Amino acid sequence: MIIMEAGATTEQIEHVVEEVERFGLRADVSRGEYRTVIGLVGDERKIPFTHFAALPGVKEAMMVETAYKLISREYSKFIEGASERTVIKVGNVEIGGDELVFIAGPCAVESKEQLFEIAEGVKKAGAHILRGGIFKPRSSVHSFQGLGGGGLEQAEEALKWLYDAGKKFELPVITEVRGETQVDMVAEYVDILQIGARNMYDQDLLTTVARKGKPVLFKRHFGAGIEEFLSFAEYIAAEGNKDIILCERGIIPVGKGRSYTRYTLDLAAVPAIQKETYLPILVDPSHGTGRRDLIFNMGCAAIAAGAGGLMIEAHYNPQEALVDGQQMITPDELKTLIIACQKIRKVVVSEKNER
Ligand code: PEP
Ligand code: MN
Repeated sequence: MIIMEAGATTEQIEHVVEEVERFGLRADVSRGEYRTVIGLVGDERKIPFTHFAALPGVKEAMMVETAYKLISREYSKFIEGASERTVIKVGNVEIGGDELVFIAGPCAVESKEQLFEIAEGVKKAGAHILRGGIFKPRSSVHSFQGLGGGGLEQAEEALKWLYDAGKKFELPVITEVRGETQVDMVAEYVDILQIGARNMYDQDLLTTVARKGKPVLFKRHFGAGIEEFLSFAEYIAAEGNKDIILCERGIIPVGKGRSYTRYTLDLAAVPAIQKETYLPILVDPSHGTGRRDLIFNMGCAAIAAGAGGLMIEAHYNPQEALVDGQQMITPDELKTLIIACQKIRKVVVSEKNER
């Protein structure tokens, strides 16, 4: 990391950036009101820090060894004006701000009618963002793959429904991009690009998605440790895109016998991650539990743990859903959950401020 003098000129900053590039690294320039900080993207061992420390306008040059420095609190404290937390604005919705954010909608978009009916329901229930999977990650090639499985034309039609439903009900929209070839098309229609748990490790996908410059909802892989999760989020930040919304969605249960939940929702990860990074974190208790009857409790628990909101799968008739019906709740149940979460949030925030 290179910390520039308060009065460093644009030329001096540009010269440092050129030098960084000459040594084969990339520069992540954060201009504060008084001071500019240059993060190094790449292998810092290639950098002669004493040479950099002697360049005009440089106050300090030092090695930062964490794998996720660009998104870390440790790094951001050197940047004047950098806030305690990142608030990501999507339309009129602020993610990571004072108000909780609820993303809701079907697991998979199945038809225009289904999507519009659910969109209307979740809007009335108080949700802020509409979700709907089109390119579904599925364990079996023989199961419904989402409308994206029917070819690009069908995928584009479904994306248009999502876009139109978002406009009609004034909800920003989000869907998953499962592969690099889908990124351009999906980015044309949605406000947030989702990277699913199974693709957390796909560096090329992460880079391609990040370059679209749109907010990214990044899900933790069910086998990933927290450090690993943040290290891969750094691939998005390394492209200059820091509008990253992290999402805890459960890890693989341990031990023999039935675990009674689809995954183990790791709620301690929420405050632990908040200590490490200023990025917002949401929780998905739908995939995290796989059980409709546990969503209320675990959704409330996630907010108590400090999450900035929830991602919830919702359907007017869960039994009818082609995918994940067992973990969908109705718009009425969603409304009850949102009201409860908002009460819990008030308690968490006011108690925290008094401590
Ligand atoms: C989803 O949100 O549609 C999804 C498939 O979730 P995950 O990637 O967490 O399994
Ligand atoms: Mn699902």
